[in-house]
Amino acid sequence: MDTRSKELFEEAKRHIPGGVNSPVRAFGAVGRTPRFIASAHGSRIVDVDGNEMIDYVCSWGPGILGHAHPRVIEKVTEACRAGLTFGAPTEREVRLAQLIAKLVPSMEVSRLVSSGTEAVMSAVRVARGFTGRDKIVKFKGCYHGHSDGLLVKAGSGALTSSVPDSAGVPADYTKNTLVALYNDCSSVEALFEANGKDIAAVIVEPVAANMGVVPPAPGFLEFLREITERNEALLIFDEVITGFRLALGGAQEYYHVTPDITTLGKIVGGGMPIGAYGGRREIMDMVSPVGPVYQAGTLSGNPAAAAAGLETLRILKEDPEIYGRLERKAKIIADTVRSVSGGTAQVNQVGSLLSIFFTDREVRDYESALSSDTARYSRYFGRVLDQGIYVAPSQFEAMFVSDAHTDEDIEVTCRVLRNCLSHLLS
Ligand SMILES: *Cc1c(COP(=O)(O)O)cnc(C)c1O
Repeated sequence: MDTRSKELFEEAKRHIPGGVNSPVRAFGAVGRTPRFIASAHGSRIVDVDGNEMIDYVCSWGPGILGHAHPRVIEKVTEACRAGLTFGAPTEREVRLAQLIAKLVPSMEVSRLVSSGTEAVMSAVRVARGFTGRDKIVKFKGCYHGHSDGLLVKAGSGALTSSVPDSAGVPADYTKNTLVALYNDCSSVEALFEANGKDIAAVIVEPVAANMGVVPPAPGFLEFLREITERNEALLIFDEVITGFRLALGGAQEYYHVTPDITTLGKIVGGGMPIGAYGGRREIMDMVSPVGPVYQAGTLSGNPAAAAAGLETLRILKEDPEIYGRLERKAKIIADTVRSVSGGTAQVNQVGSLLSIFFTDREVRDYESALSSDTARYSRYFGRVLDQGIYVAPSQFEAMFVSDAHTDEDIEVTCRVLRNCLSHLLS
């Protein structure tokens, strides 16, 4: 039953574009009405019609501890009681920057912003300021937020040019964004051959998680490290999803490859709006008021948000075994899907991130991800949703496992997935 959700969606569409404040929430790709959420605790999310679902969206990543963790709620409440925003520095921001530096050592100095988009946009500006170069390289299918210069797609034919991927973005704003292919070293090499001394940075999701989950091929991240160093360009890891998710130190710890600049979002805010970017002092000294790269924010380091982030990171740090637990649970789901898919569906899983692709091809890059049967994904989505499993309403998003998912949740989930998939794939 989704009567109330349907009513609210109709009302919402009158005053909010498409009825939602972020497009993927509209369920457009799966042809359903979005569930309006009333509350969520632990692994469960409850909609306005009273349907309780096991949640694998986890707000698109922040919810690594599950929803409404009592310790996080307590710290946020305490912070709120002391005043919501001051526009002046607070001790909490110092503690959060210290903890980030401790967990992610390459982020010796970091700046807090209010979203992942803002973190990436600022990181790119710093990379350009530091190198004195204009061009950046991004990968097709990787998402880095919605700032103008990163909303690009590869131009027709030539890999060396890019065009806006959204109306309202002037072509001029994207001409300095070059597009390479994820997991394809030769595409990066070609861009450096043609533009070597103009490239300020290569930006990558170290595990691609916005084309569905696609892990880096062995040697790919090492190659990016090497070619950027050789060309005196910076390497930016966009760890907005992978940060504190794959390991306490993110993908850079998991894969032992150290970038020059890291961007964080999602988990670092513990469910509140925070992004962060940082690197070694020499680079971050470019940022205003120390250096000439301007970047600012009225609500940056907001007390309630910083409290949520700080407590979330503290909980993770106290209990590093969480990563083993997360991986084990995700693997049970992945193995279950493999056991029924018989090669007609693929599962990619890294730590607590996973994706089911409806294709018989191994998914190792953007092209193979696109070979998925999205109509089949829609049917899968509808079936599992109706049985109380809330997964991403799009083929090209990750499934997130949280520490709040119990063994029983995983068992129920596997039972539902096994049923739905064996129907769908037979
Ligand atoms: C979500 C995401 C962003 C954008 O973060 P917002 O907080 O939505 O602005 C940037 N990069 C990656 C890898 C993301 O997954």
